[in-house]
Amino acid sequence: MSSLQAIRGTRDILPAESPLWATIEGLSRQALNQFAYREIRTPIFEQTELFARGIGEATDAVGKEMYSFEDRGGRSIALRPEITAGLVRAFIQNKLFALGGVQRLWHLGPAFRYERPQAGRQRQFHQLDVEILGSRDPRADVEIIAIATQILNTLGLTALTLDLNSVGSGEDRQTYRDALVSYFTPYQDELDEDSRDRLTRNPLRILDSKDKRTQEIVVDAPSLLDYLSEDSQRHFDGVQQHLTNLGIPFNINPRLVRGLDYYTHTAFEIQSSDLGAQATVCGGGRYDGLVAQLGGPDTPAIGFGMGLERLIILLEQMERYSTVPELDVYLISRGEKAEFQSAQLANQLRKHGYSVEVDLSGSAFGKQFKRADRSGAVVGLILGDAEAESGKVQLKWLASGEQDELSQSELINQADELKLQIAQKRS
Ligand code: ATP
Ligand code: MG
Repeated sequence: MSSLQAIRGTRDILPAESPLWATIEGLSRQALNQFAYREIRTPIFEQTELFARGIGEATDAVGKEMYSFEDRGGRSIALRPEITAGLVRAFIQNKLFALGGVQRLWHLGPAFRYERPQAGRQRQFHQLDVEILGSRDPRADVEIIAIATQILNTLGLTALTLDLNSVGSGEDRQTYRDALVSYFTPYQDELDEDSRDRLTRNPLRILDSKDKRTQEIVVDAPSLLDYLSEDSQRHFDGVQQHLTNLGIPFNINPRLVRGLDYYTHTAFEIQSSDLGAQATVCGGGRYDGLVAQLGGPDTPAIGFGMGLERLIILLEQMERYSTVPELDVYLISRGEKAEFQSAQLANQLRKHGYSVEVDLSGSAFGKQFKRADRSGAVVGLILGDAEAESGKVQLKWLASGEQDELSQSELINQADELKLQIAQKRS
């Protein structure tokens, strides 16, 4: 009988790795609070139609990579391939627009794409999604980019580059699309298969091709930046001025088109040179048409999705964050009375803010001491029959082996001071 395995392209996040996740989540939350963003949590599955209408059938994420199925009630359901569409659905359905002004929202959770699994690419992955709805101002674009930058910087990630482009308005893009089709058509037979297919469905995405010959052809293709209307150009200039004002470096990359259809004006990606082929840690842009397209009031918006697995890879390379749990006390006891007392002691210490692990094995002291040394705790507390009779406890500093005896009530009375000593020993 073969043993059961996790689904291909999914991964278990084991206890040794989860402190890194908690670090990313904690620092992100802190940055988002500082920028006055509020958390929203939406379901991981939605009507397939939401993604088809919102993101577009011609995109890889929906057209090729989506997990969709019919449920027992005959409804067509899909696991979300990204977070924005569901968030916008929630914004409309819950009438968050009626609150007026600008809504700043974020959500962190899994997304699903049927892709070939490899380093930094999974079938279930996690995104931090941050969105600002209700502002057309270039300062909103820059605020979004600044949040991404701050999160990555506080994590200690360097060697990052920000690529910036404008994909213009829907109208600009229509003119540009025609120019691209005219340019690529004579090369039709030389393009890779995907790009040939995109020539009719989504010619902008040809710019994104990873195929070598296609890339050579792309070099001389017309640039989107020559097709921007005056308004679009003004917006793009504004974004650049405000980025410069905040000292955020960027490269203009006229070939940057994002995979999803709903983008207008600003598009950006943050890449790391330490990630190999899957270099993009964060991608985002403006989507002024999406809310209206999904049945809400006309609401301009901009946001990004950050791929957390790729951040984890970078943090692991840096070895900057400890993955050892911070444990204050390891409690060793033997004998029935000692076990009762140690359970109470553990509880009282936890009330004083301690983290305490109780050895439940009942095995010989020697074995329990060995586990205490491996546990990462700073202090071992030992109760045997003698201590239980006299109401005492042995306190052992595990690093030095230094040991004192004191009464259990003394220990609790001094719990706050002792906690400070433990913190000092650890640092
Ligand atoms: P890529 O070019 O790497 O496929 P994308 O343009 O499809 O990226 P987006 O839709 O912009 O990706 O998603 C935002 C971020 O989510 C990406 O920059 C990446 O960090 C992450 N991401 C996307 N797909 C995956 C995946 N299959 N596994 C892990 N992370 C992913
Ligand atoms: Mg992709």
